[in-house]
This record gives sequence, C-alpha cells and structure tokens, in this order.
Amino acid sequence: MAHSAPGRHDREGISLMELAEMFPDEAAAKAWFEARRWPHGPTCPHCSSTAVSAIASEKPMPWRCRSCRRHFSVRTGTVMEESKIPLRKWAFAVYLWATSLKGVSSMKLHRDLGITQKSAWFLGHRLREAFSNPGRLFDGPVEVDETFLGGKRKNMPKSKRAEAKKTLGEGGTSGKTVVAGAKDRETKKVSARVVRAATRHDLRRFMEVRVRPDATIYTDGSRIYDNSPYAHEAVDHSAEEYVRGPVHTNGIESFWAQLKRAYQGTFHHFSEKHSDRYVSEFSGRHNLRPLDTVDAMGEIVRGMVGRRLTRAELVGGEPAYA
Ligand SMILES: [Zn+2]
Repeated sequence: MAHSAPGRHDREGISLMELAEMFPDEAAAKAWFEARRWPHGPTCPHCSSTAVSAIASEKPMPWRCRSCRRHFSVRTGTVMEESKIPLRKWAFAVYLWATSLKGVSSMKLHRDLGITQKSAWFLGHRLREAFSNPGRLFDGPVEVDETFLGGKRKNMPKSKRAEAKKTLGEGGTSGKTVVAGAKDRETKKVSARVVRAATRHDLRRFMEVRVRPDATIYTDGSRIYDNSPYAHEAVDHSAEEYVRGPVHTNGIESFWAQLKRAYQGTFHHFSEKHSDRYVSEFSGRHNLRPLDTVDAMGEIVRGMVGRRLTRAELVGGEPAYA
C-alpha cells in the first residue's frame, strides 16, 4: 500500500509497520545494506576486486577477498566502520533521517533506537558526515549566496559589540557563523557549508569544488562575487531589484529560510564546531525531498561510502571548513 512521504504528497512513503517488516532481523538489514552499497554484487573495498567469498561463520568478517586476501564487511570504508550499533538500528536511523524534514535530535535517536544518548549523538554525526558529499559539480545556472547563523549583535556583550562595530562596521557579522550555499537551477540540488568568512577568497574556494568552470552564476549585488572566474549576473538588492528575467537568488534564499527555521526549532543552537555538519545535513535532506522514501534511504547509504568519522575527530580538533 502506498503512503505519501514527507515533503511532497506524490512521493511514496513507508509506514512504521512496513519498515518493521523490511528489517525483521540483523540478516535482513545486512542484506539490504549490501544491496544498496553493491548493486552488482559485493566488491572488495580494499582493492575493488569482485573475486570475493562469503564466510559462513562471518568470522572475522562476512566477506574475504581472493585477490588481496583481506576481510571486509558492508561497514568497511563507511561511516559505520567503527560503530558497534547493529545494522538493523542503523537502518531505522536512516529511515528517521530520510523522513524527518526538520532533522533528528540525538534524544529521539536515543529513545527510538534504544541506544545510549552518547551513542545516539555519535550516530547522528556519522549520518551527517554521509550528507557532506556534494557529489558531481553543478552545471548551472547556479544561484550562489551567503548567509549568517547565530547571535544577533544586540545580544552581544557591550564590549564585544563595540569591537565588532570597529572591525566590521554596523553591518558586520562578528560572532555569527557564515554559511555559503549554491543551488543548481537544473537539478534543484543545493550544497551548503560553513566558511570562515564572507570574503571573495572563501566564496571562490566554496564555488570551485561545486560549480563547473563554464557554468553561469547568479548572485546578489555583494562585492564578494566581483571578478569571479564564472560567467556572472547579479541582481542589486540594495536598489530593490530582486528578479531580472532568470537572474535571481530566490531558490537559495528559500533554502536559507528553511535552515534558519530548523536552527531555531529542533536544535536550539548549533555549536560552532559542529555547525558545518548540520548545514550539510540540511542541504543533503533538501536534495532527497523529490525521492520516494526507499530511494532516499538508498541515497543516504551510498553517501556513507568512502566517508569516515572517528570518535577522536568528532570530540577533538578544529571545525572543518571548506
Ligand atoms: Zn581486495
């Protein structure tokens, strides 16, 4: 029976009953993850050989490569590699991730999956890592824009406010997280990340890994897009020009509105250190919205491959900017 999926009424969803039937046990979950990761049969993640043998006891792992003689499982080389959480619980987490438009708090994962809050927090960040892969470059035209998340100037301590005014002027953004975003007009896909600052240099770096060199970009009148290597058209918001034919940034701005609502809702604040992963999550989820739930789940699994996130990376270290 078809159910509507969140986001659009014509998408096909999965009920909780159907989900429980899809994953009755660990073996079913393992088979499901393997079929998503290896649609043409198991492939060695160490050497890419398809000459592999199943190990009946699954010890030390379910698969052995006859080319490089190493063992592997469907978790090897993915964000699940260092996790002890059963695959069945991972599958349920992927479902929650695909169907919760406003994001999934670690408290919900903790309660719904019956795992500790610490494990839930870590699992959430690993799923977010799966979303941070921008995939192929945008062909364009591409809307590019930047926005700010975080405390308002009026909430800053007086000393800090004066300092911000001195270094940034009235419109400065001290104390806020800067997010750069791009939306491809053709595919409607969005890619967004936290950047160090709203500067020409940082926005250029952001665009280079997302936008094809021959694509056209549409931006507002901000000077940080001046002298861009792309074919560039801008609307001048300061002169109340918001749309000129195809030239506008309405798509990426509506994405910013969704991101900010989520920022104020599900998560009371993003910590600076993890804000980039949350931003990746929201852009990743936006890109899944046109898909049926089962296809969105498959996309999330494919995004897990080739990504790793160790406990040490998550607990320590600097925020990742790109
Ligand atoms: Zn191998």
